[in-house]
Amino acid sequence: LKVLICTGTGGLASGAASVVAAFEAEFEKKGVAAKIGSACDVNSTGCRGLCANDVLVDICKPGEEPVTYDFVTPDLVPQIVDEHVLGGNPVEKKVAGPYYHQFLEKQQRIIFSRCGTIDAESLDDFLAHRGFTGIQKAVTMSQDEVINEVKKSGLRGRGGGGFPTGLKWSFAKGSPGDTKYLICNADEGDPGAFMDRSVLEGDPYGLIEGLMIGAYAIGCKFAYVYVRAEYPLAIKRLQLAIDTCYEKGFLGKNCMGLGFDLDMRIKAGAGAFVCGEETALMASIEGQRGMSRPRPPFPAVRGLWGYPTNINNVETFANVAYIFYNGADWFSSIGTEGTKGTKIFALTGKVKHTGLVEVPAGTTMKEVIYDVCGGILNNRKFKAVQAGGPSGGCLPAEALDAEVDYDSLIKAGAMMGSGGLVVMDETTCMVDIARFFLNFTRVESCGKCIPCRIGLKIMLEILERITQGKGQEGDIEMLEDMAYDIKKSSLCGLGQTAPNPVLSTIRYFRNEYETHIKDKE
Ligand code: SF4
Repeated sequence: LKVLICTGTGGLASGAASVVAAFEAEFEKKGVAAKIGSACDVNSTGCRGLCANDVLVDICKPGEEPVTYDFVTPDLVPQIVDEHVLGGNPVEKKVAGPYYHQFLEKQQRIIFSRCGTIDAESLDDFLAHRGFTGIQKAVTMSQDEVINEVKKSGLRGRGGGGFPTGLKWSFAKGSPGDTKYLICNADEGDPGAFMDRSVLEGDPYGLIEGLMIGAYAIGCKFAYVYVRAEYPLAIKRLQLAIDTCYEKGFLGKNCMGLGFDLDMRIKAGAGAFVCGEETALMASIEGQRGMSRPRPPFPAVRGLWGYPTNINNVETFANVAYIFYNGADWFSSIGTEGTKGTKIFALTGKVKHTGLVEVPAGTTMKEVIYDVCGGILNNRKFKAVQAGGPSGGCLPAEALDAEVDYDSLIKAGAMMGSGGLVVMDETTCMVDIARFFLNFTRVESCGKCIPCRIGLKIMLEILERITQGKGQEGDIEMLEDMAYDIKKSSLCGLGQTAPNPVLSTIRYFRNEYETHIKDKE
């Protein structure tokens, strides 16, 4: 018998630790293992997506379909054990309703296939679920063959940029020198985004495997995982996984006896949003202030400590392991022409089932919000969805048929970004939303270049006076002019994309800006 309990950050915040303890105590007290003739494993898994309904518990009896309970509290545990585990009858009133299956039905959970299924801290459980078979396959190929396999898969960087991963690897591999670095960017800073955190908490060994394949392909012997310090559980589980890998000979000299060396270390970032930008991130690892620098030189030529460096985000590396389990052709058969594979989204805001979803590229925004996440909270009217975090844009109802695809979302005025989706209903003021996101990027600006440092401040002042009923004629045009200038002249991605929420809300909700300005009169 297995009991799977969601103990990601969301689960723990809802009391999962006490539910784990209650099951263990109940099994012990009632001698359940002897009575059912089977060991009783209580597994602490990662997040399975439907965070709004935590604590989620699966009862997996041998030879039977698992039964999922939601909103489980410790006082419910004796009843589940008595009636379901011992009695054979699930506690119907507490079993997760049809919404749970609807939530999962339209998803294609590849990266998340182990999150919520395996014990996140168990190497054995990982190995029993194809763990490290991807790196074993990769080392039977030459470095160029590995890179070509990733190119053939069509995988594009999931951090937001969408740059082809295999091509990126080929640059670092082609740079001269024996010292090279690989960095996993886990500095997930967008408001409302927690996709990477879930992968780190639910499948840390899977991430390590993706890094191993990348390191082998590029020819590097040292990998950093840059994780924001606000993710203590992710850091704890990843560190445990790294330590276990060293202990078992999976990392270090001659990894797994496969003939290559790799050291891995976590660097905890201090929470600056700009450190998600590659050059600022490397400055932070080097112990300097996290500030972007001009490119070229690109990191693949001159990166960390001056050596060739390749940086990808968590979801990208997590995909790599599956490409080597199943092959590039399998991966490229999922998704659209321009975006292969699946994409993870974190849904927050005014949506019924907040949480994490993984859907094949090509799924529409409408399907994600309505079919997977159950539609708008309190059955209110949908107004907009902010896609792509503070660098993305707000899409209105007319744009809900936009597909989850790098190019389609840009055409619609947003961007894939790292995968945060904030849903808004009819009661939301879009000018205020634009002000909120612009204030976020202004605060997080590193201040190095004038367009971003001063320009965003002036744009924010204009937005504030509009929302306070002090807007003036010409304010909207000034916002647009400044937005385009800042996008063109800022040094790094933060400034180049910061005006997007303002531009997209003006594009789709100009009437709200005009009403604010007119109302004042
Ligand atoms: Fe810093 Fe903003 Fe300039 Fe980037 S665009 S370097 S965050 S001031």
